[in-house]
Amino acid sequence: MSESPEQRVVLVTGAAGGMGAGHARTLAAAGWSVVLADVADCTPVLDEIVAAGATASAVSLDVTDRTQWDDALEHVRATHGALHGLVNNAGISRRLRFMDTTPDVWRQVLAINLDGPFHGTQVCAPLMRDSGGGSIVNISSIAGQIGYFSPSYSTSKWALRGLTKSAAGELAAWGIRVNSVHPGLVETPLLSGSDGFVASATASIPAGRLGRPQEVSDVVAFLLGHGSSYMTGAELTVDGGLVSNGTYHRIIEDMEGTL
Ligand code: NAD
Repeated sequence: MSESPEQRVVLVTGAAGGMGAGHARTLAAAGWSVVLADVADCTPVLDEIVAAGATASAVSLDVTDRTQWDDALEHVRATHGALHGLVNNAGISRRLRFMDTTPDVWRQVLAINLDGPFHGTQVCAPLMRDSGGGSIVNISSIAGQIGYFSPSYSTSKWALRGLTKSAAGELAAWGIRVNSVHPGLVETPLLSGSDGFVASATASIPAGRLGRPQEVSDVVAFLLGHGSSYMTGAELTVDGGLVSNGTYHRIIEDMEGTL
């Protein structure tokens, strides 16, 4: 990527709220032109970014719909003329246990969390190649690194990790890097209504707290930028140590004074 910062263009899915909106704000502040894409209305986030002096636009996009992806790409081409970054962030979680997960829930979660990034990568890669290369960041989860009770969510995030590595190998020839980010528990609406779950999970986090959305956005910005120019097919875990040390952290806490 040889362009100056103000010429770099990134599309962020699920940018109307939660962490996607945070990624969009962070990237805009870092000089990116940001395309906000969501099924929900992105106007409030767009207005905020433009009011802060950055270049941005918004497009309506259901990531499960290939035709809408084609239309979104046309919007990027017509409005910004190039594309250097894609953040496949849109995702949903249905915290249903294995035997409670209906076929409809299974299909819906896989369609948004996995089909979405597949469509986005295939549709956006040619313009990224023609723009001089770029970086794709797939927002997976620690549920894509460990066993997680909700099969639709866990499977979608494990599969997104595989999609990332497959695309990284294939798109390297086009100068496009593809990496995944694996947030742990982060304070967003995705976790609203699950206070008991969060309290219990926090006891297994060595850092002793949930993550802040900005701490994930900073990693996304790193993977989009020149500082990670030799990274592709990699996965970055952003979880306060939950995956690497959660089990023994909890055991030692429980055994305090008796070890
Ligand atoms: P969120 O629910 O706050 O926001 C998700 C956004 O995606 C919303 O704006 C929603 O409108 C949009 N969206 C949903 N379906 C869509 C579709 N079909 N097409 C386009 N947009 C759609 O979620 P969040 O917590 O900000 O999570 C963002 C990403 O981070 C997700 O992929 C999620 O799985 C992942 N993640 C979140 C956590 C966490 O603790 N919150 C942890 C690990 C990973």
